[in-house]
Amino acid sequence: MTGERLAGLRLLLAREGVDGILVRGAANRRYLSGFTGSAGTLLITAGEAVLGTDFRYLEQAGEQAPGWRVVRTASEEERTLGEVVRELGVRRLAFEADHTSCAARDRLERSLAGVELVPVQGWVEQQRRVKDAAEQASIRRAAAVADAVVGQLPRFVRTGQPEERIAAEVEYRLRLAGGRERSFPCIAAAGPRGALPHATPTERVWSSGEFLVLDFGAVVDGYCSDITRTVAAGDPPEELRRVHAAVLGAQKAAREGIRPGLTGAQVDALARRYLTEAGYGEAFGHGLGHGVGLEVHEGPVLSPTSRDLLAPGMVVTLEPGVYLPGLGGVRVEDMVLVTEEGCEVLTRSPRELVCLSTTHG
Ligand code: ZN
Ligand code: ZN
Repeated sequence: MTGERLAGLRLLLAREGVDGILVRGAANRRYLSGFTGSAGTLLITAGEAVLGTDFRYLEQAGEQAPGWRVVRTASEEERTLGEVVRELGVRRLAFEADHTSCAARDRLERSLAGVELVPVQGWVEQQRRVKDAAEQASIRRAAAVADAVVGQLPRFVRTGQPEERIAAEVEYRLRLAGGRERSFPCIAAAGPRGALPHATPTERVWSSGEFLVLDFGAVVDGYCSDITRTVAAGDPPEELRRVHAAVLGAQKAAREGIRPGLTGAQVDALARRYLTEAGYGEAFGHGLGHGVGLEVHEGPVLSPTSRDLLAPGMVVTLEPGVYLPGLGGVRVEDMVLVTEEGCEVLTRSPRELVCLSTTHG
């Protein structure tokens, strides 16, 4: 599995004329090597795969990354890696600009005098966009955990509860349902606070007659899920009901139209056109979706300006939202796997507006 991933990266090394690459991004490191430790750097050349990590992770690295040469790094890992770079005869060395601080670059330059350092971006991220069978299986499990918690919402979400409490309960249940951890802090936005797309939960109590936007996900085998449902209590304003119906229609248009070969902008337009015709185009202020995998936000991007090309095996969210200041918001988000013909929806929870109990519990 990781062998194929390495082969893809080595093709890039050859094509770009570099002798090796240092991989420091945590998700990229895990993707290529299987190593899940919190610290370490990969050095990959045409013939060698080296995993440098410190004393804490040596044993774990050996178990998780069979076939890799594990090197114990000292307190300044660049020095140890520099020795290996020289030993392997690397003259041009790529490094991940997005995952290397200025300070780390300075240390690299000091320990690699004479080696040409080449900043590169997205080499591994690009490859990660298309999920292989093992990754798809993990993502399906993570989606199932999110779905399980959606199914439990009527049991534990009540009016009279503050957003913070609701978010904490969601996260607790994600763990109980098999999530290793949450994929991001749960968003719970009650009433008018639903107009903030990324609201942080507060002491604000959810009341009857209001909508509640819940956005959450779980991590399983390192892979994330991401789902949003908007629920109601009591008798919410008619306008919000209309908004909910429009958001569902927009998401359906995207689900039915998404297919390989479209750009992120073209998929975004499917939903945006629908909401614009419904009169809510201006209130849909963010992109339609994003890739999901080892990170909850990764490529490809679905937005009005995205030129990312969709391909089978990509997993993306479709999350149209309408935000009306003072009134509230509606967002509905599902994860889909891009297939040869179109897409398969991975999150299976019903999307229709659900009215939850208004009894205080
Ligand atoms: Zn989300
Ligand atoms: Zn999302």
